[in-house]
Amino acid sequence: MNRIICIKCPLGCKIKVENGKVNGNICKRGEEYAINEIKNPERILTTTVFIKNGRQKLLPVRSEKGLPKNIIKRCISEISKVEVEAPVRRGDVIIKNILGTGVNIIASRDVDKKGFE
Ligand code: SF4
Repeated sequence: MNRIICIKCPLGCKIKVENGKVNGNICKRGEEYAINEIKNPERILTTTVFIKNGRQKLLPVRSEKGLPKNIIKRCISEISKVEVEAPVRRGDVIIKNILGTGVNIIASRDVDKKGFE
């Protein structure tokens, strides 16, 4: 039996999955989350990349969607090779289709060029 806490809303239902049967969820989203969490768990990846000529040295970035949990370390390794140039706007694509997943890595905030007011 798998026990999962649903994170799709603040209620945090305690879900049990046994022999393909899902119990403890209040809504369909919980069932989908629990099944996905067992078959293909995903996580939103958040990290930073170096930024040249920016008002700060690091740019926070994140995956646009969940990435398979088993390739998160490889994604971090890919992201660590990247250095971008300021200015950057929130939502700018920093890495397109990381590792062929179809998921883009995007900037989480604006970073202006050094000296730009
Ligand atoms: S199962 Fe539905 S109600 Fe329960 S935590 Fe998940 S989303 Fe919220």
